[in-house]
Amino acid sequence: MKVCKFGGTSVGTVERMKHVATLIKDATPKIVVLSATAGTTNHLEEIAANLFNREIEQVHDRITRLEFQFIEFANGLLTDEKLKREAIDYILDRFQQLWKFTKNSFTSVEEKEVLAQGELISTALMHFYLRELKVPNVLLCAFDFMRIGPDNEPDLEYIEQKLREQLACHPGINLFITQGFICKNAYNETDNLKRGGSDYTASLIGTALQADEIQIWTDIDGMHNNDPREVSGTRPVKRLSFNEAEQLAFYGAKILHPFCIAPARLRNIPVRLLNSMEPSAEGTLISNLQDDNIIKAIAAKDHIIYIKFESNHNLCPYLFISKIFDIFAKYKTMPCLLTSSNDNISVATDDRNFLSLILRELNKYARIWVEDKMSIISVVGNMKSSCIETEARIMDALRNIPLKMISYGSDENDVSLVVKVTDKAEAL
Ligand code: ASP
Ligand code: MG
Repeated sequence: MKVCKFGGTSVGTVERMKHVATLIKDATPKIVVLSATAGTTNHLEEIAANLFNREIEQVHDRITRLEFQFIEFANGLLTDEKLKREAIDYILDRFQQLWKFTKNSFTSVEEKEVLAQGELISTALMHFYLRELKVPNVLLCAFDFMRIGPDNEPDLEYIEQKLREQLACHPGINLFITQGFICKNAYNETDNLKRGGSDYTASLIGTALQADEIQIWTDIDGMHNNDPREVSGTRPVKRLSFNEAEQLAFYGAKILHPFCIAPARLRNIPVRLLNSMEPSAEGTLISNLQDDNIIKAIAAKDHIIYIKFESNHNLCPYLFISKIFDIFAKYKTMPCLLTSSNDNISVATDDRNFLSLILRELNKYARIWVEDKMSIISVVGNMKSSCIETEARIMDALRNIPLKMISYGSDENDVSLVVKVTDKAEAL
């Protein structure tokens, strides 16, 4: 059994959805996870924002436009009149849900319901199209098996049990279609795995079912060795270890959701990144193998804030350190990078939600410097301390760039640095 996830761009037009159907319709057993068609979740987010603000005119305009788009899509995709009717009825039914929200109260629970419609419709359309092609397939509803617990952590045991029950209801079926991104939470409300979460869905399904492989299909040919938006002539990396891929995803490589490696690593399920526009290309294989080829790839994460805390000696050094961690934990704020020496601790983070509260509390214990508009550059590969020349090469390459932080040694797979965003392109 394979799990194959196709992103919004891969199913973003009638032609592309038809093309994906040709990629999945062979007889090998698989579960196909789809995102909402390109742009839909953004559009739904805008509708939700208008609903929050009771901007009813904008809501009407946006819902009408989206509804029209999907009906056009179904008309272009399907030729069989009976199936077309069924598909359009399904779309109208989904939009009925959206129209209801214009009349009732609107909270973050309803917001999740609004966002869920994109994946529900894209998967239904694929299901109808496969039926038109006479390819036996079953549409599974992710709400029946995908669940997160009270801390928003996926409940892998529940997912496994419910998925196995669902599959057992359809003996002889080799092709299942389901929604990425959407789930139920611990209170049985509609919820989601956060933007870009379809990759995570695929990885959770693959892990729950001990799949042979988890395939993430996008519109580029794998994880590149540098950021293609900043550097020309980048090329796909053929192999990455789980750790390397996780670091790259965490530090900015957009192709993969950073959470989706952890479940796969847990049960050692290989993850393959493939390009739906070029299906025969090798892509990137992520597995538990660690190559010796020392530096694999470089990624960058923007919108980073650099904060330096210098102790005012109100607390002894070990209490000072623990205070800093405690206050970050109290506000559920994750430092992306951290360095320390004697009396100073520097933190880089991209989470500014509670930053002013954190700084206000820590002001009693430290002098604080803050610098905005920073980037983290992460150099990823096999960085065992026995591979002696790697760090020297990195530092040498960056000799003309002012470095705010350098982090090395927490992990055998990366060296991370903080630079000003204006120095990022050159550093990359
Ligand atoms: N449709 C969701 C989003 O746009 C989930 C995903 O595409 O992975 O964020
Ligand atoms: Mg995505």
